[in-house]
Amino acid sequence: MKYSPQEREDCGQRKSLKVEKGHDISNVVRDNLCMGCCTCISLCPTSAITLVKDERSGEYIPDIQKQQCTSCGICFAVCPGHSIDVSQLNEEFLPGALKDERLGSYLNCYMGYATDQRLRYQGSTGGMVTTTLMYALESGMIDGALVVRMPADGSMTPRPFIARTAEEVLTSARSLYCPVPANVVVKEILDTPGRYAVVGIPCHLHGIRKAECISKKLRKRIVLHLGLFCGCGTSFIGMDFVIHRMGLKRSEVKCVAYRGEGWPGGFTVELKSGRKIHQGYHEFWDRSLQAFKLNRCMYCHDHTSELADISFGDAWLPEVIAADTVGTNLMITRSRNGEDVLRQLKDSEIIFLAPIKRQRVLESQANCNWKKTAISARIKLAQILGKKVPDYGGLTFPAPSLVDFRDAAVQYFQMVLSSKKSIWWILRITSRIINAAGRFSFSYTADKKK
Ligand SMILES: Cc1cc2nc3c(=O)[nH]c(=O)nc-3n(C[C@H](O)[C@H](O)[C@H](O)COP(=O)(O)OP(=O)(O)OC[C@H]3O[C@@H](n4cnc5c(N)ncnc54)[C@H](O)[C@@H]3O)c2cc1C
Ligand code: SF4
Ligand code: SF4
Ligand code: SF4
Repeated sequence: MKYSPQEREDCGQRKSLKVEKGHDISNVVRDNLCMGCCTCISLCPTSAITLVKDERSGEYIPDIQKQQCTSCGICFAVCPGHSIDVSQLNEEFLPGALKDERLGSYLNCYMGYATDQRLRYQGSTGGMVTTTLMYALESGMIDGALVVRMPADGSMTPRPFIARTAEEVLTSARSLYCPVPANVVVKEILDTPGRYAVVGIPCHLHGIRKAECISKKLRKRIVLHLGLFCGCGTSFIGMDFVIHRMGLKRSEVKCVAYRGEGWPGGFTVELKSGRKIHQGYHEFWDRSLQAFKLNRCMYCHDHTSELADISFGDAWLPEVIAADTVGTNLMITRSRNGEDVLRQLKDSEIIFLAPIKRQRVLESQANCNWKKTAISARIKLAQILGKKVPDYGGLTFPAPSLVDFRDAAVQYFQMVLSSKKSIWWILRITSRIINAAGRFSFSYTADKKK
């Protein structure tokens, strides 16, 4: 059953997003297309959805309390797990930006970092996200920012929250390479008047933009969308794998920290005994860890947060890798608003900012270009295996090559190996062989298609 025109008007529903009564997110979870963004939880008008941390899969899963559900269809409509039409959302939110097959709609590309060395050093990359949020709060541009931090309480469970002071923003610096239920705090934005910034990986922003299509309130209150690049997300089992790979027991770990303290940082484990053990970035973020990606990540085509006002990543460029030990960000502006914010930061000398060419952004992200260039092979293989895949609306992808199919098969095979702890050793050996062989490199696939 569809909403009447009056009901559509009442909930501020845009033409671009249909809310159909009778649909809910149960099928998304059943089809393994949920990536735990939690947009559904915040948008449910009857608070019928609870968040469950599934210990077996190491993922967040929303659970509907059927007695509270009115079958309104809103959770399904805003869910980016089963469908995401980035081209339509671009028209809605980023009109006037240059359309680019590889980077998404954009205005300009930059390199830069926080001029405050402390922020630059503490941040995941060049501290740009933290600096932007601190400036936005202190200048009165926003009243709060949706961010996340890893508490040092031993739970090893990320806590998304609304930071309302620069000090609170500072506690959220650094990337978290584990599931983050960021959009669970979108509810606080809906409940508390004010202007907000949000930070998220691409799928978080997919959920937020879809939610903004049906909630006028949200669309008005979120004035700045900061997106992180994302190669892939990994489950909590992936975190256990890294701890196991370091020869440690999960029970002796007090807390973990990713990235930060110089570039590119790495993974630091603090034991209950007080001892800290650090693993460098390349040792930590190797192909065997990527085997712990979420199923939905296999069908994700957005590497650079294409629905953000400004997207942020690492400058993996030869000259930066050779000389920089503190951190340099890549940035892509996609809206006038995003462009204005960066300009203000530059004029206030809070950041160093220099324009760079689009090609250099692609060059720096060569290891992840396969996300978009080879997605057709992953989708086709999934369909052959009888798996459900998302609906991408008007978006089309390049035709797959045999190499793409081979790489997709390798990824599926590694994911199967990652699901059983008793055979993790096989995963480590196969990853070493693949890394050494080099020719199975996903960047090889992508580079050939530039
Ligand atoms: C899962 C993941 C994959 C990534 N993959 C790539 C990649 O392939 N290539 C690349 O160049 N860069 C990638 N990045 C981005 C990179 O790690 C940095 O986050 C980015 O360059 C910003 O750095 P910064 O120093 O400006 O951020 P900081 O100043 O350190 O601030 C980081 C901000 O991000 C928020 N945040 C951290 N982790 C998450 C999360 N998981 N979900 C939502 N919000 C979060 C924090 O709340 C904080 O506000 C990835 C990040 C993540 C989280
Ligand atoms: S009430 Fe609506 S939004 Fe909430 S679970 Fe039911 S269908 Fe979903
Ligand atoms: S909105 Fe997010 S958390 Fe909810 S079902 Fe969809 S993907 Fe999962
Ligand atoms: S690869 Fe896509 S779906 Fe997976 S965590 Fe990153 S943004 Fe989300």
